[in-house]
Amino acid sequence: MDSFARLQMLTSQMELEPAEENRGERRPADAEARPACFTPKQRDAVFVHPAQLPNGQTIKLLKTLLTSACERDCFYCPFRAGRDFRRATFKPDEFANVFMELNRRGIAEGTFLSSGIAGGGIRTQDKLIDTAEILRNKLGFRGYIHLKIMPGAEKAQVERAMQLADRVSVNLEAPNTERLSRLAPHKQFLDELLQPLKWVEEIRKSVPSYKGWNGRWPSTTTQFVVGGADESDLELLTTTAWLNKNVRLKRAYFSAFSPISDTPLENKAPTDPLREHRLYQASFLLRDYGFDLEDLPFVDHGFLPLRADPKQAWAQIHLKEKPVEINRADRIELLRIPGIGIKGAEAILRARRISKLNDLTSLKKLGIIAERAAPYILMNGKRTDYQPLLF
Ligand code: SF4
Repeated sequence: MDSFARLQMLTSQMELEPAEENRGERRPADAEARPACFTPKQRDAVFVHPAQLPNGQTIKLLKTLLTSACERDCFYCPFRAGRDFRRATFKPDEFANVFMELNRRGIAEGTFLSSGIAGGGIRTQDKLIDTAEILRNKLGFRGYIHLKIMPGAEKAQVERAMQLADRVSVNLEAPNTERLSRLAPHKQFLDELLQPLKWVEEIRKSVPSYKGWNGRWPSTTTQFVVGGADESDLELLTTTAWLNKNVRLKRAYFSAFSPISDTPLENKAPTDPLREHRLYQASFLLRDYGFDLEDLPFVDHGFLPLRADPKQAWAQIHLKEKPVEINRADRIELLRIPGIGIKGAEAILRARRISKLNDLTSLKKLGIIAERAAPYILMNGKRTDYQPLLF
């Protein structure tokens, strides 16, 4: 099988990895991003995803596995051992050369590289590191590399991966040991998955950052399979909040469970994608808006209401009767108001230094969704006239 046919097979299910995407947008890049050197059939099959980097730049990201062979048997995974489908494998130098061909043609600007586990986590991690070494040191690639850390990788391997990559990630899949046992009974939550994330933070704190390939240590992310283990939103967000605080997680990705044929969970109902969306909203409140877990509007058994934006649900309880004065509120108070994001709060603080804000039009000029904010604010001591938003 030639390189492009293998790339086709290996990229075909990478939409299960929403890494670098915005709020779960999962789509391949435009057709014109497909390699012109490919046959039409090949062009349809290589998934280069538009991806947002930590600095906000959007690039064409080739997401792939080095091999779809795997000796593990995670219940939700299309690549699990024993599942009957055709598998493909790249050697490190083969993948590096194919990627550089795509890069030279302007088709792929960065890569997210993961792998099935073949010969143990340590051996598989070595192959991922070898690939990144070839790209950086032999082929001179200076663009974006996201390397997956394999379950069971050693601390020295984590450090080497950090020296080569712009981002490293470990998929926790579930929020704790008990829930993971329902999804992947042969993965160890604490030792194999959480420990590498702790090592990343230990290394960031103890080793100078000039050891990173571009003078910085990589950011870290993780991913959860939402709904696969009947876990609650509270469990997922408790772990997310812990990771934000203790290992400076850049981002948690939430992937709504979707059953895959010929796996032990093939008859389990798929998770409503709206739940994934609410979890993203809540995780941003925890990470960027000064919310604590106790602030989130969980209802029965630790689930967020599906039909309400969590920030709006909080404001309905806390701000409806006690609106915030826009001309006096501090940054944290402004961030609690629906319709006001981080840029909006900063714009209000800047504008107030020049003159008072008197009406919703002045808020709209600052980029704020004024109708959403209106029920929860005062301007110069008065409620504002507004047309309620229907959607
Ligand atoms: S280790 Fe990874 S590739 Fe292998 S079965 Fe589990 S999730 Fe799938």
